[in-house]
Amino acid sequence: LPHTGKSIRVGITGVPGAGKSTTIENLGLRLCEKGHRLAVLAVDPSSTVTGGSILGDKTRMEHLSRHPHAFIRPTPSGGALGGVARKTRETVLLCEAFGFDILILETVGVGQSEIAVRSMVDCFLLLMIAGAGDELQGIKKGVIEIADAIVVNKADGDNERRARLAKAEYNRVLHFLQPATEGWQTPALTCSAITGAGMEELWQTVLDFMQHVRATGIFTQRRQQQNVAWLKSMLEEGILNYFFQHPEIASRLPQLQSAVASGKAPATAVARELLQHFFQP
Ligand code: GDP
Repeated sequence: LPHTGKSIRVGITGVPGAGKSTTIENLGLRLCEKGHRLAVLAVDPSSTVTGGSILGDKTRMEHLSRHPHAFIRPTPSGGALGGVARKTRETVLLCEAFGFDILILETVGVGQSEIAVRSMVDCFLLLMIAGAGDELQGIKKGVIEIADAIVVNKADGDNERRARLAKAEYNRVLHFLQPATEGWQTPALTCSAITGAGMEELWQTVLDFMQHVRATGIFTQRRQQQNVAWLKSMLEEGILNYFFQHPEIASRLPQLQSAVASGKAPATAVARELLQHFFQP
């Protein structure tokens, strides 16, 4: 632990195809060239519908993954969000102890996993593309509200003008929203992960943000809250497992569950009965 906590932890989210891996590759190579040591971790709970991982198994960040200063952790497969989040938190500490000074946690725009990543990072970036419509991008207002910067990617070629318009529109909307971080007006930016335009500005925004949170004490406060939240979630997980593995509960649950499912017994009464059994066997 004395060797941890010294990195900048950045979260990046966006729908599949928004350009997360291309952006991380472009930005990551720049950071490595500047002498930073970068670890990229994916928080990708396997889809319960398809059974596959959303961030995919395709070769991602080909050049960055070969850079001696970069470490890209393959997408953990299998398991629910809780397990992936727990492993990621531990990996963050390991990477820091190992000497990585910038950590990027990547996730997909599917809701729950963004909240989990927000609770592990200092600065949270939302990657968007122009013209697809927020609904199409699966972006809920809630996700915009937890972002410290909105980055409109693919601002190149024919798309550049549309990206700039989208940026202006987001900046207008952001003025009406409560910022995710106190005292920080969440900006909208444009970039192109292909041409590299806007990449330096993007990183400068992260650095400005870090300066703001450090100067105001938000950084320390947030990291402390995150540690406590981690402890609480570990306790909750442990207690839940203990409950469901308890022999009495495990043997009674299937029958009671089907009674609830078929409407023969109300959930409240069954829950009360099971909990009583658990606490006063
Ligand atoms: P991810 O699913 O969010 O990781 O998205 P990818 O990084 O895999 O990018 C999806 C597609 O968009 C790929 O074909 C990329 O080459 C392309 N792409 C990503 N960034 C840009 C960009 O800045 N400009 C253009 N024109 N294409 C991009």
